[in-house]
Amino acid sequence: REWCVALSKVELHAHLNGSVRNSTLLELAKQLADKGHIVFEDVKDVIMKNGRSLPECFKLFDLFHILTTDHDTVTRIAKEVVEDFAAENVVYLEIRTTPKNNEAKGMTKRSYMNAVIKGIKAVEAVDVVLFDSNSRTNDTLTCTPTIELDGDTKKKRIYIRLLLSIDRRETTSAALDTVNLALEMKDQGVIGIDLSGNPVVGEWETYLPALQHAKELGIPITIHCGEVANRKEIQAVLDFCPQRLGHVCCLNDLEWKKLKSLMIPVEICLTSNVMTGGAPSLELHHFADLYNAKHPLSLCTDDSGLFSTSLSNEYYLVAATFGLSKPQLFRLAQEALQFIFADGNVKKSLKEVFRHAEKRLI
Ligand code: 5GP
Repeated sequence: REWCVALSKVELHAHLNGSVRNSTLLELAKQLADKGHIVFEDVKDVIMKNGRSLPECFKLFDLFHILTTDHDTVTRIAKEVVEDFAAENVVYLEIRTTPKNNEAKGMTKRSYMNAVIKGIKAVEAVDVVLFDSNSRTNDTLTCTPTIELDGDTKKKRIYIRLLLSIDRRETTSAALDTVNLALEMKDQGVIGIDLSGNPVVGEWETYLPALQHAKELGIPITIHCGEVANRKEIQAVLDFCPQRLGHVCCLNDLEWKKLKSLMIPVEICLTSNVMTGGAPSLELHHFADLYNAKHPLSLCTDDSGLFSTSLSNEYYLVAATFGLSKPQLFRLAQEALQFIFADGNVKKSLKEVFRHAEKRLI
């Protein structure tokens, strides 16, 4: 386990509000209970419950959003989430989050994202590199990695990029707003689009115009695919051919074949899939098949807070369940670099980070 923590890692599928610490959620729930808005004990039981079905998860997200959706709290959770991933030796992190309009809180999608960015920039424990129009030159110049050499006490560095999520409950117009916001904020670390939200809600045709628009603008896209056996949508998603796919649990033989022939990189979320029933068990998880087929993939947490996991734990589970050796785990972490949405400069820097890490770890 310690070795998996020490391993430099790349996280490509982490939802902001799913990665909040339980202790923070409980603190926020207490504050709301003190104001008489909720009953703390009821909410506490829900937050601390172990094992959740997929529908239960989405109910819980509605609760999380009540607790977290004001500007200051969004800033706080963004800061904490980055700190937590950095503590796990994640060297590149793509955080995805759904920009939210909330009139009662004076919140627009843009102001929500500004609050997220404020939180990321407030991190002091590690050196954060988030692309920013004001530090564009700086960002490029500092792309030489700060590598933790033996005995070197230099601050750790984490590269962060943001993906804007379209929630399946949204209208075509709201989804288009999110894509336009991503374009507007591309100099502030926003780098891609995600389609997520309750998979039994909404229709592919509703989001397609926004996804098509993102494609035309050259914005990379990742899509939650096959969390439930919706044949028509799985087919449509594969035909759309996004840059990456999340989950891919419920594919039939033909879809499986198509995915493999398209070589679309897959964000694998072991704990999440087993907990929510997308995979029958760790042993029977489709990771093994994709890994053996040398399909491009990357291990991810999905919702580290909600599922009480960490990226180090996901690597450990792969070692413990499928018998991967340390060099194999290292390659798995290193190969995820190929699928990041950030540009060549960042990739180059991270390759250096892994080159040094290899000497230390293997
Ligand atoms: P947020 O976007 O609010 O930062 O993160 C929480 C949201 O991410 C949820 O409301 C949901 O839309 C999405 N999400 C988190 N985990 C999952 C998942 O496992 N599957 C799907 N489809 N969506 C998820």
